[in-house]
Amino acid sequence: MAQEDVFKKVVSHCKEYGFVFPSSDIYDGLGAVYDYGQNGVEMKNNIKQYWWQSMVLMHENIVGIDSAIFMHPTIWKASGHVDAFNDPLIDNRDSKKRYRADVLIEEQIAKYEEKIEKEVAKARKRFGEAFDEAKYRETSPKVAEEQAKRDALHERYSKAMNAMDLDELRQIILDEQIVCPISGTRNWTEVRQFNLMFKTEMGSTADGASTIYLRPETAQGIFVNYLNVQKTGRMKIPFGIAQIGKAFRNEIVARQFIFRMREFEQMEMQFFIKPGTELDWFDKWRKTRMAWHQNLGFGAENYRFHDHEKLAHYANAATDIEFKMPFGFKEVEGIHSRTNFDLSQHEKFSGKSIKYFDPELNESYTPYVIETSIGVDRMFLSVICHSYQEEQLENGETRVVLRLPAALAPVKLAVMPLTKKDGLPEKAREIIDDLKFHFNCQYDEKDSIGKRYRRQDAIGTPYCVTVDHQSLEDNTVTIRFRDTMEQERVNINELLGIIEDKVSITSLLKKLK
Ligand code: ATP
Repeated sequence: MAQEDVFKKVVSHCKEYGFVFPSSDIYDGLGAVYDYGQNGVEMKNNIKQYWWQSMVLMHENIVGIDSAIFMHPTIWKASGHVDAFNDPLIDNRDSKKRYRADVLIEEQIAKYEEKIEKEVAKARKRFGEAFDEAKYRETSPKVAEEQAKRDALHERYSKAMNAMDLDELRQIILDEQIVCPISGTRNWTEVRQFNLMFKTEMGSTADGASTIYLRPETAQGIFVNYLNVQKTGRMKIPFGIAQIGKAFRNEIVARQFIFRMREFEQMEMQFFIKPGTELDWFDKWRKTRMAWHQNLGFGAENYRFHDHEKLAHYANAATDIEFKMPFGFKEVEGIHSRTNFDLSQHEKFSGKSIKYFDPELNESYTPYVIETSIGVDRMFLSVICHSYQEEQLENGETRVVLRLPAALAPVKLAVMPLTKKDGLPEKAREIIDDLKFHFNCQYDEKDSIGKRYRRQDAIGTPYCVTVDHQSLEDNTVTIRFRDTMEQERVNINELLGIIEDKVSITSLLKKLK
């Protein structure tokens, strides 16, 4: 199946099976805003738990907070968001569509990279086993030509972005002959800056209402609580503060389902350290976070780091963890070495000292920070895209199955009475009443057993149990495994032991080194 088709299918599957709905659906939706349905919210909660527990339970020097979305407006002055949280936008006059100029150019760079990969793939096919890939990449004139174009464009683009030279960004788009994907023309407007923060007002106008912002990241809530947590928690550097919460960005282009939303959720951790140790900690968190992703078992080949060459003015190292989505490798998480920029800005703007007294060094300093920042929704998308499969069965039928990691699946066990009579429903409910304290169970008695299995496959339920007449006699049931579709007769008393460990977040955490 073409990757674009997979993505389309995932989007409609998410709606059909209660994972993700367009927001305000009966009013035809609201651009780039989505709601999570009955299955989506369970899976999202599991992802959040996996992250939270890996941070807060597994590290004795990391604690969590939950700060408010509304914050003092000066915070966003201090953080630089009021002046610089901008994207360069450009319109196509014919289609009237708006684009991010930087994204158009990055896509052009990706096109050159794709051409190189295609050349290499062709050569691999041609030469078979004797193929020396490294040598081919070094010596092929075609590869060299594309690489030179890519590098020149990349350098020009980085320079323009660093200087935020809007005219140059436009010129690059013209010189590269980039066309609007809708109209196919090069009739572009000027490039303009657009601030991504949503504004609202607090207080009544009579009282002199003040403009406040919906937070565009959760991180600032951590920075402004640094002193509170450090003092009340008697935290010693190095230590971290974790937070999960909503963030809001008025994204210019938001066309990729829950990949780019205007209201989304972040899981962020700021790790406070001694100045000078940041590159070691950066490296440690880079590895720790990659291990967290790969622990889900999706295969290392689906992840890569993308180190930033253009660093934000306050950062001295930054990388993204990218996942292979159906529309290419895309950022899911950012890891940034932010120096002491944020804390010193808040010192300056608030007039309060935010220093740490280091008893070992017998001196005070403003801590440096390593940040790990991951989007819940992008993580959700990567999990569901990777797990969605259409399988051809031996009997010629197709089944759609979500091969979700069991710990992330919304429902862990479906209990199904073979018929709706003879005491079978009662027996089924007895099983649920016993197991529902341990994990999420679902009772299902409608339609044939085959149809019920398909429904559970489609939402990724790892285990189904069928209660039949024999169950009443010998207290056994048939357990069916999602991935292999194999069935086994087991005693009801064994179910907890078979299932609980496999579906728990703890099972995932134990696999983390
Ligand atoms: P992008 O370059 O894709 O706009 P970003 O580099 O601005 O992302 P960060 O500011 O580093 O993103 O935010 C950290 C994480 O928050 C991202 O890795 C992503 O998972 C998530 N995120 C950011 N913006 C959005 C959005 N509009 N919708 C969903 N998730 C988002």
